[in-house]
Amino acid sequence: PIYLDNHATTRVDERVLAAMTPYFLEEYGNPGSVGHLFGEAAREAVEKARESIAAGLGAEASEIVFTSGATESNNLAIRGILGQRRRRGDHVISVTTEHKAVLDPLAKLGRSGFEVTLLSPQQQGAANAGQIDPQQVADALRDDTALVSIMAANNEIGVLHPIAEIGRICQERGVPFHCDATQAVGKTPLDFHALGVDLASFTAHKIYGPKGCGALYVRKRGKRIRLEPQIDGGGQEKGVRSGTLNVPGIIGLAAALRLCLDEMATEMPRQAQLRDQLLAGLQSAIDGVTLNGPECTPQLRLAGNLNVSFAGVDGEALMMNVREIAVSSGSACTSANPEPSHVLQAIGLSEDATRSSLRFGLGRFTTAEHIEFAVTHVAAAVSRLRKLVKPT
Ligand code: PLP
Repeated sequence: PIYLDNHATTRVDERVLAAMTPYFLEEYGNPGSVGHLFGEAAREAVEKARESIAAGLGAEASEIVFTSGATESNNLAIRGILGQRRRRGDHVISVTTEHKAVLDPLAKLGRSGFEVTLLSPQQQGAANAGQIDPQQVADALRDDTALVSIMAANNEIGVLHPIAEIGRICQERGVPFHCDATQAVGKTPLDFHALGVDLASFTAHKIYGPKGCGALYVRKRGKRIRLEPQIDGGGQEKGVRSGTLNVPGIIGLAAALRLCLDEMATEMPRQAQLRDQLLAGLQSAIDGVTLNGPECTPQLRLAGNLNVSFAGVDGEALMMNVREIAVSSGSACTSANPEPSHVLQAIGLSEDATRSSLRFGLGRFTTAEHIEFAVTHVAAAVSRLRKLVKPT
């Protein structure tokens, strides 16, 4: 089978695994242990990793808080800032196409007295379908807005939001800006400080690192962002996030990010070219293939993302008919619930078009042969399924 579901997760790169291995077998100390060499070695390794991650993302080491992944980072950012007694008010701005790890905490807060404004992005058909216009944010800001939360890149349609402009608007109004950067980190250059982002979530397993380890960037320079801790205990991470640090995971996150940044300039054009070949191949092999979301340009869309609908074919059925290719219908991140994709519906796709969609996620290990294989097999499955449903 071939793997084209790299937005859901990625294979760990051997080089990342090699960097992690000593921290399971040799340097297995608890970084919180003082007074012995094992603890010191682990602590030193974690701090080196923290510096390396910060340097790669326009942050300072003291601005990185390690977590169990982007879901936790999003929850810590949102609940942490809104849980403070000294916040500006009870109004929050976000977008209808955010990940559930943002939308669900916001919905819960909405039920407990916060007012949540969800902006609606550009609709399907526009060149920048799925994108938020910074003016929408400016128009929605109020004196009691306590947080703006907008992702850098969408996990279903790969659209890139204008984070720098949104950051500037939030800074001018003095409103904290959280960015779920999970899908963008390692794939587009990001400098959180320069972008005007105050809080940013990311995770290792989307960038060829291990599952269960992520981080939250928390701005300290200029305006110091304070968070109400969501997990209390041993006081690790300066009390913001208690719990023994996942040392191998943290080493893996740092190694994974470093590799992505080192290889980005050649790797992203390579993936974009393969993605374009995949779209062209599907469209020439079968009729009724439409691109969902924005145009395939580096300014608008993640290089490895393709989301398409196959007219008259059910995406779930299609997936079942191409078992040798791992793709996703809707969002794998929420595959526990079989609802049609909220992202595609939010950009105006009909329920039929939404149900007939597949998301392809190309990655570091995707080759031209994989793309050819996918085109052949998907095209064959689509024709098969269309014959089945054709009226006699
Ligand atoms: N945010 C986005 C945009 C994602 O794509 C994902 C993927 O699952 C998450 C958050 C959650 O990340 P994690 O699996 O590290 O909790």
